[in-house]
Amino acid sequence: MLPIGRCPACGAQGTCEFRGIINDIPHFGETMESLVSCSRCKFKHADVMQLGEKEPVRYEFKICSEDDMMVRVIRSSTGAISLPELGVTVRPGPSSEGYISNVEGVLNRVEDVVRISVKKADPTRQRNAKIKLKKIDEIKQGKFRAKLIIMDPCGHSVIVDKRAKKRKLTKKEIAELEIT
Ligand SMILES: [Zn+2]
Repeated sequence: MLPIGRCPACGAQGTCEFRGIINDIPHFGETMESLVSCSRCKFKHADVMQLGEKEPVRYEFKICSEDDMMVRVIRSSTGAISLPELGVTVRPGPSSEGYISNVEGVLNRVEDVVRISVKKADPTRQRNAKIKLKKIDEIKQGKFRAKLIIMDPCGHSVIVDKRAKKRKLTKKEIAELEIT
């Protein structure tokens, strides 16, 4: 635990702490999970980032089977997630958190985003959301194949699997990610 000078949420001095855990991901490198928390206002922010050299990166992985649910995914707070077959994109925002999970965990989080975003929506959008949720279910069962794409201009996110296609982000892609 390291004290942080000033809490980013309430501004109090000496009540906020930083904790970092370094994980060694086989064939990949070191990843740091971090948690900032304030004992005064209960502010918490979790994140995860790659250590070492980084460049703007895009990972693409085709989810083909139930076994693919176990593929490890590291999503940093700067990573955008998209499932083009579903028309879903989860862009990073000021409150987005980083996490180490797997494909199933990412799909669960996307489900939550879809559910929350249509809570007060009109019937058409509600219907579309139901279709998306059903497709996510089918992806989990290996009945529907879909691509999972993660784009991270800071290079902190990873899909840890040999079949994942990795390339550098183009300048255009980086510019588009910055417009949020
Ligand atoms: Zn605070």
